[in-house]
Amino acid sequence: MKNKIVILGAGESGTGAAVLAKKKGFDVFVSDLSEIKEKYKNILNEHQIRWEEGRHSEDKILVADEVIKSPGISDKVPLIKKLTEKGTPIISEIEFAGRYTSAKKICITGSNGKTTTTTLIYHLLKNAGLNVGLAGNVGNSLAFQVVEDIYDYYVVELSSFQLDNMYDFKADIAILLNITPDHLDRYEYKFQNYIDAKFRIIRNQTENDVFIYWNDDPVIREELKRKTIKSQCYPFAETKSDGVKAYTENNQLIVNTPNHTFTMEQDLLALTGVHNLYNSLAAAITGSVLNIKNEDIRKSLSDFSGVEHRLEYVASAKGVKYINDSKATNVNSCWYALQSMKTPVVLILGGTDKGNDYTEIEALVKEKVRALIYLGVDNNKLHAFFDDKVSQTVDARSMQEAVSKAYELARKGDVVLLSPCCASFDLFKNYEDRGQQFKECVRHL
Ligand code: ADP
Repeated sequence: MKNKIVILGAGESGTGAAVLAKKKGFDVFVSDLSEIKEKYKNILNEHQIRWEEGRHSEDKILVADEVIKSPGISDKVPLIKKLTEKGTPIISEIEFAGRYTSAKKICITGSNGKTTTTTLIYHLLKNAGLNVGLAGNVGNSLAFQVVEDIYDYYVVELSSFQLDNMYDFKADIAILLNITPDHLDRYEYKFQNYIDAKFRIIRNQTENDVFIYWNDDPVIREELKRKTIKSQCYPFAETKSDGVKAYTENNQLIVNTPNHTFTMEQDLLALTGVHNLYNSLAAAITGSVLNIKNEDIRKSLSDFSGVEHRLEYVASAKGVKYINDSKATNVNSCWYALQSMKTPVVLILGGTDKGNDYTEIEALVKEKVRALIYLGVDNNKLHAFFDDKVSQTVDARSMQEAVSKAYELARKGDVVLLSPCCASFDLFKNYEDRGQQFKECVRHL
């Protein structure tokens, strides 16, 4: 009997796992190298769970029978290496939570679009009257919800880090939106390792389970050639081709499942841009395989209000629209943002570079961007790449400065787009803070 459980990292998932483990009768100890947020300390205390912060006491950790690791902790840290050498099983919060629920799990991963698609599917299931919980980046951790386990369905957003430490967990419906290089620092700079992590979403699936994926993603395609998939596959794409089960034709969305055909006017979709068409197709397939009525699927796909910081319309000033896409922390999501713009753009980008290759957006920048505003502490790489490609480029060291420069540079009919391609930690607490500051500054124009 595994008795002692140690939880490393006391954020949303760690605290949720701790409460669940305690409820299930384990001897639980929580350790966090940083300071634990007040909110989580209170929860741990309330449940009489032992914890420490600001250190990892090896004498209390190395005695664990099993360790639940926060997705934020890399395998490379010495403590994790020691545990691995000892042979201590290390699992993710999702793996742990999965042991204690028999609800159907709809799991979403991909390099971009996870939160949008997760929230959209939750909206769809909930409005169709299903008894459903939302877990992942938005909402409470899965483990926390499994304590009460009152739901019949969970919609779960999964990052590659959560998938890394999943072994027996099974998604009843797995959605793989796309794969582009990201977080390579955690994967020994080997893209294949990251691809393998993403594909763990279909681990343990049988012929009774469903696998939904973007058919036109070159990385997914290549990987599928090498794999035998047991699951029922539902590839989606913008246009119809062999085997594709969901696509658009004559401005209609079409989804074919064995006992269901769903159609909808494309213009009625609440979310715009081709990337959101993919997200909507993935949601429509999910609704169809769960036999949700067509009218309910149509309603939810057309009245969804979107997610904050993702191509979020903020306001208009002097005929210029301001759009907050602060969550675009990599080049690929900026590509989709630019791609969906129909008017000239003043683009605010920059921040903490994660090894970005800007060639991906070069053509779109040349085609659509009137001016670039580099918002970061170190803008050298942006200068080197873009200065000879765009006629106007300026630096900004704060959001206030970026927005007032955008205001000066934009002309009537333009869009000012914050879609930074980068992490935010040089000037902001996180991408939410960056987006909030942008919105504040825009509202004060
Ligand atoms: P994630 O949770 O995977 O980070 P989000 O839904 O938060 O994804 O969106 C992050 C960014 O990616 C946003 O800027 C959004 O415009 C863009 N995006 C959303 N869906 C997709 C998609 N299917 N493909 C590519 N980019 C997308």
